[in-house]
Amino acid sequence: MHNPNETTGALLAAAEPLISLAIEEDIGSGDATSLSTLEPDVILQGRIIAKARGVIAGLPVAEAVFCRVDPELQFVTHVSEGQAVEAGEVVAVVTGPGRSLLAAERTALNFLQRLSGIATQTRKFAAAVATTQATILDTRKTLPGYRVLDKYAVRMGGGSNHRMSLADMVLIKDNHIDGSGGIAQAVHRARERYPDLAIEVEVRDLHELREAIDCEPPLDRILLDNMTPDQMREAVALAGGRVPLEASGNVTYERVLDIAGTGVDFISVGGLTHSVTALDLSMKIGSRAVHSDADQAARIRHMKAAFGERLLILGHHYQRDEIIEFADFRGDSLELSRKASQTDAETIVFCGVHFMAEVAAILARPGQHVLIPDMTAGCYLADTADAESVSTAWAALDAALDNVEAEVTPITYVNSSAELKAFCGRHGGIVCTSGNAERVVRWALGQRPRVFFFPDQHLGRNTALELGLAPADMVVWSPRTPPAPRTLRSCKVILWPGVCNVHQRFRPEHVHRIRNQYPGIRVIVHPESKAEVVALADDSGSTSKIIRVVEASGPGAQWAIGTESRLVNRLQHEHPEQLILSLADVPPFCASMSQITLSNLVGVLEALQAGRLENEVTVAPDTAHWARVALERMLAL
Ligand code: SF4
Repeated sequence: MHNPNETTGALLAAAEPLISLAIEEDIGSGDATSLSTLEPDVILQGRIIAKARGVIAGLPVAEAVFCRVDPELQFVTHVSEGQAVEAGEVVAVVTGPGRSLLAAERTALNFLQRLSGIATQTRKFAAAVATTQATILDTRKTLPGYRVLDKYAVRMGGGSNHRMSLADMVLIKDNHIDGSGGIAQAVHRARERYPDLAIEVEVRDLHELREAIDCEPPLDRILLDNMTPDQMREAVALAGGRVPLEASGNVTYERVLDIAGTGVDFISVGGLTHSVTALDLSMKIGSRAVHSDADQAARIRHMKAAFGERLLILGHHYQRDEIIEFADFRGDSLELSRKASQTDAETIVFCGVHFMAEVAAILARPGQHVLIPDMTAGCYLADTADAESVSTAWAALDAALDNVEAEVTPITYVNSSAELKAFCGRHGGIVCTSGNAERVVRWALGQRPRVFFFPDQHLGRNTALELGLAPADMVVWSPRTPPAPRTLRSCKVILWPGVCNVHQRFRPEHVHRIRNQYPGIRVIVHPESKAEVVALADDSGSTSKIIRVVEASGPGAQWAIGTESRLVNRLQHEHPEQLILSLADVPPFCASMSQITLSNLVGVLEALQAGRLENEVTVAPDTAHWARVALERMLAL
């Protein structure tokens, strides 16, 4: 299911009977307290607030509960499904008849808290293994009746689903093997009876693993049951990539990175759904004076008109629609920074993430100010590399290669801090974007024999492959266990191990699934995606290229797009003559981009109106100078 509406439809279809049951058990013949204490015409507004940091899942179910209790209740979400929230953040606002609002509150929160708890736990596991190739899977250990809901929440947390039911796939476990006389016999019988179903076999030791690997045609997956990391490593070597391997049994958060480090493809975690800790959410009742989105939009419109040309609002393609509505320009990070450098506006409000506002501040003219509505809107990818750890790696490269300044050109992807751009400026290096990475890497390899590419390993690898380099020409830097000097001397590209947690989520099976579902569909992905995904796609490129390609396609074109979902949704909306879908089954949203909201945009504009520069992004002069050197090297190419 790739269409987000289909996903929500399936969720709601499964939730409907549970909602009926829950309302019946909680409200019964009526909420005695609300009915007796509130006048029937009292209108209340409830803000659902996160009391702890977590990941939100289940908003459509919560909305359906309110709507079922009283269709007059209006439910407005302030965050997206799968979005990470901080304690204190408003998740949704419900407005309407007070009696109905309070009667529905507990049931709606019960669903939302359970599903958000599962998504939060899944995100923790998925983040722990993000720099490996392992995918986190759920199991069938779900609350009876909640299978679809629990597994939906796992997807919202960034995990993937194992089989939905016993009918989906054949999973031959130890009892089946013992009962049928061995692996080969069990597989043979399963294939005869269910030739179209995928087959996975559980093995308890390396002897059984060899037998499973030898099955012809190859199995779809082999499950390594309760093995130690050393045994798993041996299993990965034995399988040699012929059959995907899944690790299972006693997978805890403390162990999961060790397990992923063995090279297994999947890790199934029963605890995601069998030991759920609900995310702490509560509803605070306020008066109607709480500003609605419409109020806030009207205030922004009014202030924008009053500032006139003194103010420029920039909106990145991954921003919410309600923010894009107020953007004077929308674009990718570099396009927006260029706009910032060309404007005469005194103040630029950058609706994007922090590193983008920094680039705008570096390129801004003297006297111009760059503001960001939320100072904490960082970037997961940019945060994987800081100046200190890159400098430490640079020193280690110097020791390994004798004279790093003559041997290695540093390249930083624009999605990085100003300090890293300055680092490149100081060391003869350069900045690149996803649109010009090939040109930049070619230039850099013309300067010195090898490049050090940070922070996004996927963009670095995809670019090098595009230039005709082989995987053996690349090495991934590991801060804990740096590559041996011999390996460094024989490689051409040293990759920082960073990834973008949005684009990292596209996987080869997404491409296979969507091609099966929509024969003839073309797939285009952002080059921050894994190399295996880029290899299967028809095309890859920056957000600007993706937009150009869609705009140049005629009516009836079909695209599956592997990039941030707000851009995909906007393209869907703007091109109804084409079929435009997200490549992933659960469309990924960038949580950092979501931090920019109407209310914090109102906040910076109101402060500006009162003469205060709130959330101004500045870069120290020396850092700005060297960062500009690296940026100008790129712009000169
Ligand atoms: S989509 Fe990825 S690279 Fe872009 S801002 Fe979000 S985390 Fe950073």
